[in-house]
Amino acid sequence: MHIETQCIHAGQHPDPATGAVMTPIYQTSTYVQDRIGVHRGYEYSRTGNPTRTALEACLTDLEGGQYGLAFSSGMAATDAVLRLLSPGDHVVASDDVYGGTYRLFEQVLRPFGLDFTYVDTSNLAQIRAALRPQTRLVWLETPTNPLLSVSDIHAIAEICQAHPSLPLLVVDNTFATPFLQRPLELGADIVVHSTTKYIGGHSDVVGGALVVKDAALHQRLAFLQNAVGAVPGPMDCFLVLRGLKTLPVRMERHAANAARIAEYLHAHPQVSRVLYPFHDSHPQVETARRQMRSGGGMISFVPNGGAQAAHRMAESTRIFALAESLGGVESLIEVPAAMTHASTAASPLAVDPGLIRLSVGLEHVDDLIEDLDKALK
Ligand code: PLP
Repeated sequence: MHIETQCIHAGQHPDPATGAVMTPIYQTSTYVQDRIGVHRGYEYSRTGNPTRTALEACLTDLEGGQYGLAFSSGMAATDAVLRLLSPGDHVVASDDVYGGTYRLFEQVLRPFGLDFTYVDTSNLAQIRAALRPQTRLVWLETPTNPLLSVSDIHAIAEICQAHPSLPLLVVDNTFATPFLQRPLELGADIVVHSTTKYIGGHSDVVGGALVVKDAALHQRLAFLQNAVGAVPGPMDCFLVLRGLKTLPVRMERHAANAARIAEYLHAHPQVSRVLYPFHDSHPQVETARRQMRSGGGMISFVPNGGAQAAHRMAESTRIFALAESLGGVESLIEVPAAMTHASTAASPLAVDPGLIRLSVGLEHVDDLIEDLDKALK
């Protein structure tokens, strides 16, 4: 089946009791048992809930995996992956990960005895040099947040498979979504999502997910999901499923609008740098074109005039709302160094304070360009 069909039908069947076309919101914490230990597949909603099952099955199909697990946030999903490790284990991660991921790694997990090395994962030599006998995970974001740097998933999977410690390759696919990029098919072991973003798509729910191919890995992660308990409620699962149905049409428009805006910004005399994965000027444009269907809806750029100019511009748009997060139907603007990535300040991952990040929405592109044009003036 094509992904457009999977988004609408995978894991989602008319309700057997009523024929309801939409997956019901099974707002229940527990389930009656016919006899002790004899039930209909559900015992308690931390362990499993039918609305969550539908979401997990849909995401699994979209990513071309075998098993999916939904979490209460992208960070909860990330945390579950890292709980596969033990003190003394080592992780190689992209040096431009989401600020909250960096905060979790450095401020929560390093004190528990995990070690992290951050490298430019678009550079294969840097990954090879960072691997150690204790390396258990390679953590990629591609494209990264906020610099939109692109890493070659297939080449990195080969490096992981050839290394004696056999590190798992994890790809945070939040920016690309399975509509643009399918990391499991390129050799990754685990796909991570903040479903808060494009998967949900309407800025009305916080959620996360993992998708894997391997049964034993799934069992360990499902154990952690239940044992730790950072699960989404049925209403949140319903909202993500509802958003997912339109993922392909949304991503097509996000990308078409973003490509036009990237061109516009590139030609603007007040803009010194534009980062967009499918723009000819992007340093990894060839890798991006090989592993992604389009450049997606995120653009970062640096206006002339440093942080002050960036702050002024981000506060002057009318349609682009000044807000954290991304991936919704509405356009957002932010300054990562002062907002989403403030937790990387004074670290090696610190972001240019004059960088602006756009999440390009589904409004008419001419209105968006006019909005940016006025703000740049
Ligand atoms: N991964 C990426 C790439 C993100 O941008 C974010 C949030 O912005 C997360 C993970 C964390 O997701 P959540 O905010 O749903 O916990």
